[in-house]
Amino acid sequence: MRPLLLLDFDGPLNPHAADGVPPGYRWHEITEGAKTWRVLLNPRHGAELNALAEAFELVWATSWEHGANRLLSPLLGLPADLPTILWPDRSPVLRGSWKTAYVAEWVGDRGFAWVDDEIGDVERERFVGQLILPVDARTGLTAGHFAALKSFAGKGFRGHS
Ligand SMILES: [Mg+2]
Repeated sequence: MRPLLLLDFDGPLNPHAADGVPPGYRWHEITEGAKTWRVLLNPRHGAELNALAEAFELVWATSWEHGANRLLSPLLGLPADLPTILWPDRSPVLRGSWKTAYVAEWVGDRGFAWVDDEIGDVERERFVGQLILPVDARTGLTAGHFAALKSFAGKGFRGHS
């Protein structure tokens, strides 16, 4: 079984803390009903993630919840029916990310990688053996992150063969 790749959006795919427009990115305006959002996207990310979908099952793990498939997937060229983790409560927690408890429940015993700008040592300690990849919200996903994901997927496949 492929490992899961849990995708946060704001931070990894939309580097919202960037100073200006980082190379390779451009602004997109998303409108739904009375709401409008401006996000920075890099079209290469969609291509990279689609390539990784052979090795991983892509999963949205973002506060956009179902809005990710509806509004974000089309802009990135990703399938619009990706599994999506829902967050009943987003209250801050004492240590680590408020997403962590939900992620633990959702993944069960599947192997997974997780990219997010609000994860770190707490998640590394909790999910030993999984790939916890913090992302800087000023730069978004980098070539280094994609290399780490490919390497992790390679190990996973060897483990199951
Ligand atoms: Mg984020």
